[in-house]
Amino acid sequence: MIKKDDILDIGITGMTHEGIGVGRIDGMVVFVQGALDGERARIKIIKVTKTYAVARIEELTEKSPLRQEPFCPVYKRCGGCSLQHMRYEKTLDFKHQVVIDNLQRIGGLTELKVEPTLGMDKPSGYRNKAQYPVGMGKSGLEAGFFARRSHEIVNTKSCDIQHPVSDTAKAAVLEYMKAYKVSAYDEVTHYGLIRHVVTKVGIQTGEVMVIIVSASPSIPKRDKLVEILKGRVPGLQSVILNINDQPGNVVLGKRNITLYGKDSIEDRLGGLIFEISPLSFYQINPVQTEILYQKAITYAGLTGAETVFDLYCGIGTIALFAAGKAKKVIGVEVIPEAVEAARRNAERNGITNAEFYAGEAETVVPQLYEQGVKADVVFVDPPRKGCDEALLRTLVAMAPRRIVYVSCNPSTLARDLKYLTGEGFEVKEVQPVDMFPWTVHVESVVLITRVKD
Ligand code: SAH
Repeated sequence: MIKKDDILDIGITGMTHEGIGVGRIDGMVVFVQGALDGERARIKIIKVTKTYAVARIEELTEKSPLRQEPFCPVYKRCGGCSLQHMRYEKTLDFKHQVVIDNLQRIGGLTELKVEPTLGMDKPSGYRNKAQYPVGMGKSGLEAGFFARRSHEIVNTKSCDIQHPVSDTAKAAVLEYMKAYKVSAYDEVTHYGLIRHVVTKVGIQTGEVMVIIVSASPSIPKRDKLVEILKGRVPGLQSVILNINDQPGNVVLGKRNITLYGKDSIEDRLGGLIFEISPLSFYQINPVQTEILYQKAITYAGLTGAETVFDLYCGIGTIALFAAGKAKKVIGVEVIPEAVEAARRNAERNGITNAEFYAGEAETVVPQLYEQGVKADVVFVDPPRKGCDEALLRTLVAMAPRRIVYVSCNPSTLARDLKYLTGEGFEVKEVQPVDMFPWTVHVESVVLITRVKD
């Protein structure tokens, strides 16, 4: 029997979807953080339960040729990236396998071919949005990232997957806080002011927005905060004070006060201009987003005659990409501010055949269908929990020629594909795209067509 503190040898035969190595000893599954499939290690057992054990690597006795030295100094503690001990090609294969496993196990789609993951040529500095928690650490004021599975702040000077200007902005806010003795919010006592520094960057336009999330609107020396940011942050176009007085993990509150410049910034994507505001969703890796959307548009097979739905449309990006190739596009999104931004984005880009509705896709689409509005082609791009069954039911009744499913969660994707393939649709192509290099997140775009009867 395996016991805690045992030192044992193990061969790693697989990986979990979080990138943790898996092996077996005496028939028991052992999870080994940091080990890769194909490797052997001497391990120390740190936890044993009825069904599995968890171990730490003492020494790697056989290393995988696909292993690399992590490039980040805080890699072990930070909860951001988990795959830096793999070579980039290996992370792409890993994500490919995660999609296959989910489609087979949850979706029952065993025969399906999944395309190799489309990766980045240069997988660094790709993020256009950073969120740094601020707090009091052992050595004073800190801002960085949360440690794995905790709210301890890992202080970082720079983060290699962020746009460099984000680190500059974070340092400038800390400088202001130290100079004017502005307190950090304490999650336990709920005392203090500054909770997060959030940055958004228009990678194509160079425009930068810095959002300071505070528990109260009255922060000292707002003018000094703006002055320091203006002096430090190239491209600064907007400084926003966001008020979040609610306890909990949600980063941004509902209220925004513009301290300097514009209420929103702009970015260009695939020849179109988009407005980025503090609260609305915008894809965080613009380089890969273009690749993802191009694939989605190709899958849609538009001829110019179609009515197209873009469900979970955010600020209307996919809808506006498709508008030029369709008769009409209709976007649906639950956040009203994002819908207003989508309408402005349509106008800003001279697009007149796009309409946007605020509401839940599972409520709005059945209403539209009842009024006789039908789509020939439907894009869905839901959050991690996937599509509501009420929506899928309506799509089955509406029977569009094609559904293009953009997914950030392979398990809910597989569940929804199982439903659709049981109701007269078939899955034609699956393309994983690496939107979040070095993290365990996996994005895919899937072409689903109606089976001819
Ligand atoms: N397609 C967009 C946004 C995708 S993110 C893009 O590529 O940028 C998913 C979006 O779904 C978010 O904007 C979120 O606000 C929205 N959303 C979440 N639940 C929803 C629901 N039930 N109905 C409609 N939109 C929803």
